[in-house]
Amino acid sequence: KVRVRFAPSPTGALHLGGVRTALYDYLFAKNKGGEFVLRIEDTDTARFVEGAEDYIMNSLEWCGIIPDESPKVGGPYAPYRQSERRDIYDRYKAQILKTDYAYLAFDTPEELDAIRKDFEARGDVFAYNHQTRQQLRNSISLSEEEVQTLLDENVPYVVRFKMPIDRTLNLQDIIRGNFSVNTNTLDDKVLIKNDGMPTYHFANVVDDFEMKISHVIRGEEWLPSMPLHVLLYEAMNWEAPEFAHLSLILKPEGKGKLSKRDGAKFGFPVFPMDFKDPESDEVWKGYKESGYFPEAFINMTALLGWTPANDKEIVSIDEMIAEFDLHKVHKAGARFDPQKAKWFNQEYLKLKSDEEVLVLLKEIDEVNALNLSDDKLLKIVSLMKERATFVVDIYNDGKFFFEAPTSYDEKATKKAWNETTSAILKDFSTQLETSEFDSDTLKEVIHHFAEEHSIGMGKLMMPLRLALVGELKGPDVPDIMNIIGKEETIARIEKAIR
Ligand code: GLU
Repeated sequence: KVRVRFAPSPTGALHLGGVRTALYDYLFAKNKGGEFVLRIEDTDTARFVEGAEDYIMNSLEWCGIIPDESPKVGGPYAPYRQSERRDIYDRYKAQILKTDYAYLAFDTPEELDAIRKDFEARGDVFAYNHQTRQQLRNSISLSEEEVQTLLDENVPYVVRFKMPIDRTLNLQDIIRGNFSVNTNTLDDKVLIKNDGMPTYHFANVVDDFEMKISHVIRGEEWLPSMPLHVLLYEAMNWEAPEFAHLSLILKPEGKGKLSKRDGAKFGFPVFPMDFKDPESDEVWKGYKESGYFPEAFINMTALLGWTPANDKEIVSIDEMIAEFDLHKVHKAGARFDPQKAKWFNQEYLKLKSDEEVLVLLKEIDEVNALNLSDDKLLKIVSLMKERATFVVDIYNDGKFFFEAPTSYDEKATKKAWNETTSAILKDFSTQLETSEFDSDTLKEVIHHFAEEHSIGMGKLMMPLRLALVGELKGPDVPDIMNIIGKEETIARIEKAIR
């Protein structure tokens, strides 16, 4: 049975890389008819950020990545928050201490600091490992009686992993392929801290076992931990899950890891939702607040490291589930392109019916306040949808539908206006008084007027557009006139020629 987990630490906002990991976890699990588990890894109390867990859960929900088991909905392996699983870790701590894969270490931080400095003075780097462990204060170097005395005196200790000496581990990663590591290059990581809480490594492996996780899919930054994790399974006599490490998401330039600073730089968020950092009070604007559709965001994210068949770009979540294959996930880093992200949103906007967009448009307070009829708004939507990236663009780029221009673009005025313009427009506006106001009739009226007055179309159209819009942009002039209506059209012309 395929069981996959996403295991974020609530240390801050969920960024793009995290969402992609969760998405690949989810797609893989659902493709295999398996389960997707959300586990909160909150054993590091020093890095805990209030509100981050809710933020992560809400972000996933917004994306449509819905866990089958989580702290919120529970499940057969609850609790799903590591801080509530202390008794389980205690049990396995006792178990691993009975093996030859773990030992107690009593060294104080001060002692370790002093040794580190000694090493540095000699131009060396200190590691707590097979070479140094004999000289340090632990249950390997001390006698059984000495250890007992320290325990009786309640001297604090940590539990360390006893890295086997000179073994070559042959490891398999679904994405990376096979690689080997010699254990002599690895150090004796802490498994249990001196407050009795497990470290990430221990809790993570225990929980993956306890929760029957079949595949560990996670970011490349965890690849160096894989040998230790595999050895922990060996130490506990458990079967290890399969591993797949996802490559980095790179900056648009293609070099270096994408960071939240990059988000700020492109004026483009790398977070799926609004997040207020409780420490700095800084608000990181997210994709949601920027007007992205969750489907567009998820589609864009899925393609950062995976290509569906036939290079198809617009894929629904169901299509992704049907097609997703970990073996086809790219080994190389995926370059993030902010323009491409916008393109995805644009495509999804085009896919929506005018009626669907209308509903979203009316959610914008400014639009709602105008109290326009649905009929009118629908016309605006159908004219503006094709040119917009976000729903709000329909309002921002179509402001002229809602209100008369308060100023006229200077360059455009120079281009469109000369000494005869006012007279032409005045004449034209008189003709409008008696005209029907549907787009077709207006088109004819304009043509007819230009012909009758022997002027080029531009001589009328440009200043007319300027009077109505304030600049030389927007959809066809007759369509604009039709939507804003006769009275408003004439009022705007009069205002412009004054
Ligand atoms: N808690 C780890 C993180 O925050 C989980 C890593 C893993 O998936 O093993 O990324």
